[in-house]
Amino acid sequence: MRDPLTLLHEVFGFPGFRGVQEAVVARVMRGAGTLAVMPTGAGKSLCYQLPALARPGTAVIVSPLIALMHDQVRSAEAFGIRAAALTSADEDRAETMRRFRDGQLDLLYVAPERASGESFRSLLRATSLALFAIDEAHCVSEWGHDFRPDYRLLRPLLDAFPEVPRLALTATADRHTRADILEQLGLPQDGLIVAGFDRPNIRYMISPRDGLQGQLKTVLANQAGAGIVYAPTRDATERIAAQLAAGGRTVRAYHAGMDPGVRRRNQQDFVASEDMVMVATVAFGMGIDKPDVRFVAHAGLPKSIEGYYQETGRAGRDGEPAIAHLFWGAEDFARARKRLSEVDEARASGERARLSALAGLVETSECRRMVLLRYFGEDPRAPCGNCDNCLAPPATVDATEVARKLLSA
Ligand code: ADP
Ligand code: MG
Repeated sequence: MRDPLTLLHEVFGFPGFRGVQEAVVARVMRGAGTLAVMPTGAGKSLCYQLPALARPGTAVIVSPLIALMHDQVRSAEAFGIRAAALTSADEDRAETMRRFRDGQLDLLYVAPERASGESFRSLLRATSLALFAIDEAHCVSEWGHDFRPDYRLLRPLLDAFPEVPRLALTATADRHTRADILEQLGLPQDGLIVAGFDRPNIRYMISPRDGLQGQLKTVLANQAGAGIVYAPTRDATERIAAQLAAGGRTVRAYHAGMDPGVRRRNQQDFVASEDMVMVATVAFGMGIDKPDVRFVAHAGLPKSIEGYYQETGRAGRDGEPAIAHLFWGAEDFARARKRLSEVDEARASGERARLSALAGLVETSECRRMVLLRYFGEDPRAPCGNCDNCLAPPATVDATEVARKLLSA
């Protein structure tokens, strides 16, 4: 085995570990099952990339989205790491399998539905494995905000290779979800490592919608730099983008229904730009490495606090000041409640809890950051001084009363 710190310098060119990375890597190196809960941008990929290089064999990484896998492969290859994704869409599947069997891959990405199949299991027996990494591990839990039943099928695969270390990673998991991930993936109780969640450079601003178009125009007028506006639907992204474009700033739309060529170009232009505004569905941002996003604005209620944290977390990854605006309406809660009535009870209870946590965040007259951090299990000492409630006395709560009634109806 090779020394992780040496590899950190030589392969990645980084001066040192960040935060809990060192502890996570150390556990994986000695083969201990681990759940790493680290905010977006904290450097989760390194936690499996480094042991993959340091330990003999290939690391198998389970990832929920093809686009995410391809991003990861590209960024690993940029460091000279040998990586590939095994997806049904790839023409070079046979070649990927050959490289894997011949031990020519450091990282192999695979979707959960493929990972759990018998043919994949026999493929794994053909070579030696450095570790299993389960990315976006909250998907394994019905408590999580993005439950994926296929993640439940991973356990038999992991158990078939008991000597291979397993590392679960997620940016967002509350206490329930963490406990559930440990249980579902067969990880030891003491295997939990949680990084601090605070993003002190992000200013949180939350207010009821009151002429959304005007509110967003004010945001753009006051805020230089690149920004993302999250809209609830594909139609809304196009509509809002058209409205905002009239202001002279470059504004583009991004959603999964667009022509792939246009979408890719919009994304590339955004990453390269210093002041573009992207109006997008939440599909935008995952795997996009743009450190200087100066603001994120939600045009409607996010799906959960986890979602809010993750989406606002795309602002200010360079550590410089950034602003997160959220504009919500009582009808957002009404819509969410309707969705609740359409899912089975097992999921509805988790969703109901998430919705009332969201209501708590938008309604509070307390420091937003304290509410947010407490949700993630932290115990903040004092108001942050960098959110709307800290900076100005809270506005009247008429609109939030409506939301409260809708929730409890
Ligand atoms: P996450 O998956 O947790 O959102 P990433 O793995 O994408 O985060 O890493 C975020 C950024 O931080 C990447 O550009 C990565 O290269 C960089 N990074 C990770 N670890 C370190 C480190 N120890 N020192 C410097 N930069 C790092
Ligand atoms: Mg990641």
